[in-house]
Amino acid sequence: MKKCADSAFNFMQKTIVYPNKEQILETPFKLSKKTLQITADWKKNYLKNIKQKSENEKLTEITTLILALSALPKPCVKLGTMYCYDPVGKTIFLDKHHPSVISALHELGHCLYGNSELEACRFSVWLFKTIFPEFYQKLSWVGHLLVKK
Ligand SMILES: [Zn+2]
Repeated sequence: MKKCADSAFNFMQKTIVYPNKEQILETPFKLSKKTLQITADWKKNYLKNIKQKSENEKLTEITTLILALSALPKPCVKLGTMYCYDPVGKTIFLDKHHPSVISALHELGHCLYGNSELEACRFSVWLFKTIFPEFYQKLSWVGHLLVKK
């Protein structure tokens, strides 16, 4: 059976203890210049005509970002019905109905930094907060999740 880091399967098996906002934001996550540059460059293209883009186009562009930020060997990125990471198959699943940059970055965080929810949250939140401050402002914290206000 496929095992995903954030899947319903995991919730049945054990309770994932997610970090809270304070733990995630306590100290800045060290992001490389390369990571920041790649994401900032990608953002310009992604936001261009965003309103005209289909969900599939957004997912394709999000996949491009994830692969550009991944270390070698690159993970597989597939479309599924939820955001999750399968460490055995080194595969990141994106929810095909909900293109989400921050959710995709969270799963990339698991791919880069392992099972730790704290590290995956810290990586994705700090990268998002740094490069997309105008969107970060529009999100509210609900537990460990950032959701649209
Ligand atoms: Zn996670």
